[in-house]
Amino acid sequence: MNHMSKISHSVLRRWQNSNSRLTSDDFILPLFISEDEDSKEPIPSMPDMLRIGVNELYEYILPLSKIGLKSVLLFGVLNSDCSKDETGAPADDQVGPVVKAIILLKEQFPQLLICCDVCLCEYTSHGHCGILNSDGTINNAASIRRISEVACTYAKAGAHVVAPSDMMDNRIGAIKTALKLMGDNKTCIMSYSSKFSSSMYGPFRDACKSGPQFGDRKTYQLPLGSSQLGQLTTERDIEEGADIVMVKPGMFYLDVVNAIKSRHPNHLLAVYQVSGDYVMVHDYATKSGNFKSIVCESLFSMKRAGADVIISYFTPVVLKWLHENGGILTP
Ligand SMILES: [Zn+2]
Repeated sequence: MNHMSKISHSVLRRWQNSNSRLTSDDFILPLFISEDEDSKEPIPSMPDMLRIGVNELYEYILPLSKIGLKSVLLFGVLNSDCSKDETGAPADDQVGPVVKAIILLKEQFPQLLICCDVCLCEYTSHGHCGILNSDGTINNAASIRRISEVACTYAKAGAHVVAPSDMMDNRIGAIKTALKLMGDNKTCIMSYSSKFSSSMYGPFRDACKSGPQFGDRKTYQLPLGSSQLGQLTTERDIEEGADIVMVKPGMFYLDVVNAIKSRHPNHLLAVYQVSGDYVMVHDYATKSGNFKSIVCESLFSMKRAGADVIISYFTPVVLKWLHENGGILTP
């Protein structure tokens, strides 16, 4: 049967593209919140990205909010390793960068959906995502207790969504219970549910100054060849009560995105176009002289695979294109 001759009309072509359409609702912008309140420091390994201090947030967000920014995902960045300890104490510091940013953004941009990454690796002296036993292995029970404390602090400060990125067993259930005990029944949990042990996180670790001091995170991140495990951990997190699940990294794992969406069509699914994806696409898109088409193609691919929400460093530039294009971009 000849299908190609049936899609020559532009309206027919647009119908074929309907599941890949982009609008401003689709995007979450990750933000690196610096401990230095006046910071507006470019990140050498990530073009166009800044480590930004709370005093600079309003001016940075205002123009984006005018062209449709709906949501941000906050990561804290400390100035030095001095305050880091074994338990990641600075993570839920009441005067730390993340808590300050939540309070400020709520006040300045009441419509903005504020998501907070919840992890310890940016704040622990050893750079791992949890609490360690004396032999250097992860203590799961102590870790999820600590991660729940941090999540509760962000929720109390006003975060709408807490997003645990550690991948440890039972942390979604633990956070849910801790929130409930606090009398909170409105904060959503976005779980980094399929987080692969990828080589694509390098620029992010540079941005956050958060590489592990020894060993790696392979014991709590998924082996990159296993689609089945990616689905199992997502099911684990859905059972524990995750409101939104996530696949990370995005671009090399679209088979996992598609499998999860097929199995859980009614569950919100986020895809993280990670720092390595971003730098790779940005680099080639710049060299090709066809920047917009290539960036958009990378984002269409995630929608086509089944993403409901895309966490992307391209959010500012895509919002600009959407604004110029009547609010919608189609392949
Ligand atoms: Zn971590």
